[in-house]
Amino acid sequence: MSGSKCTRLTGALVKPVLDSVDSVLFDCDGVIWRGDQAIPGASQVINLLKESGKKVFFVTNNSTKTRKMYVEKMTTMGLNATEEEVFGTAYCSAMYLKNECKLEGKKVYLIGSNAMKDELQAVGIQQTGVGADHISGKQVDWANVDLDPEVKAVVVGFDEHFSYMKLNRALQYLIRQGCLFVGTNRDTRLPLEGGKAVPGTGCLLQAVETAAQRQAQTVGKPNRYMFDCVASQFGLDPSRCLMVGDRLDTDIMLGSNCGLKTLLTLTGVSTVADTEAHQKSGCTERQGMVPDYYVESIADLLPALQG
Ligand code: PLP
Ligand code: CA
Repeated sequence: MSGSKCTRLTGALVKPVLDSVDSVLFDCDGVIWRGDQAIPGASQVINLLKESGKKVFFVTNNSTKTRKMYVEKMTTMGLNATEEEVFGTAYCSAMYLKNECKLEGKKVYLIGSNAMKDELQAVGIQQTGVGADHISGKQVDWANVDLDPEVKAVVVGFDEHFSYMKLNRALQYLIRQGCLFVGTNRDTRLPLEGGKAVPGTGCLLQAVETAAQRQAQTVGKPNRYMFDCVASQFGLDPSRCLMVGDRLDTDIMLGSNCGLKTLLTLTGVSTVADTEAHQKSGCTERQGMVPDYYVESIADLLPALQG
């Protein structure tokens, strides 16, 4: 990695950095959109990168959409993408459960979305648990709820129906001998416009971990599995990849963990002050959260691509 870090990428500096990579991995929320609002110029940047011969990938911790749903969202934003380029935690968790946990043809207990159910199904993994599961108004024998004897793993992603019953069911499965435990990601807070925020999947996962007194294996950024998933399918050389993200603890950390060049964009969560705090801390571990470069927005890459 270069000696001076967190350099503002602007003007004549942009082209040599882009020339030094073959692939660009984009985080989604906070980089190419915020919620449903596209970041101005993002689609042009991505389309031009592709026209210039770069491989482009989308790497998101959001487990609420399938690859197909992401392509549909991108298409409405005028962004050219194919399902093969999208690596969301719904898809990557399905790949992890199939390839690393060898659960093809098996069943999992899923705390998660319909999108996760669909991605699991696509790789031949059945699930039980998706949708509402809430009982109240009568005495429940919590420690003796119905369990599916075929369940081999508990999988936790974003679930708007999360409930005490789901937490309890997850615990009852995890108590069983040999039950695997996988989480999509650990983002604890999802920031919204105007300083607002909502609880992220990390909150649900920590509740299950606390109940089960076990740690889950997570798939999402900053775990290198997300990059390995892309790299193994496309034969990427890490030193010729650029990871673009708005979060130091997930995106930039993933890039550092995998030996990628890293670029922070200031259209999302993290700030230059956050970066400086890590840099000045003197803590070796925190240096992985210092990006090589930063831009105000990925639109700052446009002039070099249009020139
Ligand atoms: N998880 C959920 C449920 C989300 O809604 C989001 C952002 O919208 C994220 C994670 C973070 O996504 P990304 O990795 O694209 O920033
Ligand atoms: Ca993000």
